[in-house]
Amino acid sequence: MKDLHTVCTFSDQAEIFMGVSKDIRLILEKALSDRRPSSDDIERLFLTTGKEKKAVLQVADWLRERIHGDNVSFVINRNINFTNVCYMGCKFCGFAKRLDEAGAEWISVEQVVQRAEEAWNRGASEVCIQGGLHPKLPGTYYRDLLIALKKALPKIHIHAYSPFEIWYGAKKMKLSYSDFLEDLKECGLGSMPGTAAEILDKQIREKLTKNKLSTARWVEIIKTAHSLGIPSTATIMYGHIDAPMHWAIHLDTIRRIQIETGGFTEFVPLSFVHYDSPLFLENPNLVRPGASDNEIDLMHAVSRIALNGLIDNVQVSWTKLGAERARNLLSMGVNDMGGTLMNESISRSAGSKNGQEITEREMVDIIRSASKVPVRRNTLYKTIKTYRTDEAVTTSEPLVSRDGQNPLSFLK
Ligand code: SF4
Repeated sequence: MKDLHTVCTFSDQAEIFMGVSKDIRLILEKALSDRRPSSDDIERLFLTTGKEKKAVLQVADWLRERIHGDNVSFVINRNINFTNVCYMGCKFCGFAKRLDEAGAEWISVEQVVQRAEEAWNRGASEVCIQGGLHPKLPGTYYRDLLIALKKALPKIHIHAYSPFEIWYGAKKMKLSYSDFLEDLKECGLGSMPGTAAEILDKQIREKLTKNKLSTARWVEIIKTAHSLGIPSTATIMYGHIDAPMHWAIHLDTIRRIQIETGGFTEFVPLSFVHYDSPLFLENPNLVRPGASDNEIDLMHAVSRIALNGLIDNVQVSWTKLGAERARNLLSMGVNDMGGTLMNESISRSAGSKNGQEITEREMVDIIRSASKVPVRRNTLYKTIKTYRTDEAVTTSEPLVSRDGQNPLSFLK
């Protein structure tokens, strides 16, 4: 980690704090001296505008630079959603289908393995596997899938199963979370996506998911996974019926878990995609159509500040925001572009138009266009390769045809 004053001198700080109110300046100075902002401080930062917002973004960028310098990372992976059939009825979800609905699918274990092999042959080090809570899914499916994948591809990292799936699988198997997760780890589970967190606030969850997976349950499953040596990501889904107060509570909860377990590898803000979401379609006057540009900037920057010293990696979701917006957030506290994905389908099902894949070469181009150094990493943030400035990168064509669309057209 760099010394703070090589990243920002006292005069840089004086300049950026000019015209900023005393309370915001004190919070930001506290962050720069590695003292953690309180939950109230975090909420206050989310409400900044004008010069104060600019100062928040700058401090987030300094904190990022101190840890990561100019490096921006990504992982070559493939997203595999084995089923989109789910009866949980989460109101925000545009992905789930009923068994008899057009487009409902459940691919076989052999098909999942075949997709993973295809990904491995295209350079992937990870498969990211999640599915709906299919009513006919046997509880053994989760372990069978891991065993089949590891048999075919012993070296691939399996990043799989949200806490909601763990809740479901453990219930089906009549096992404790600990016993269920321990078995999955033995079968090859490498890490878990910290999805299904949405907003870790009871009232909001009640409206989003009928609180089927409560905050307490989500926290219990994540902490159990961490205690067994299964790391996870942490996420937030924002921009619907939530407010800065809930974001501050959520970030504070994530911090408390991290202090206790150290098991989070990264924090990923996920902006709500409203187009095909029942939550929005049924209540268009009450539900926001995703986060505003201002909220997106602040979510990434304030997360960096709130999690400073606890979670080093703040990831942007290009599937939610698009490549150009993701690139711009690399100067607001973000240090990771996430995965190439190859087959993104959750955001796409909810109406996102940002495509299914950004190839390795395109990741490198996007990162270079932000004057940063591209770094290919593995799931657990170990560097696989740092791309030299003049190094040409050749990768295969996107796995799925884009019908002439180019996610990098903004670079031309
Ligand atoms: S968010 Fe997940 S658990 Fe909820 S309905 Fe959609 S697929 Fe099912």
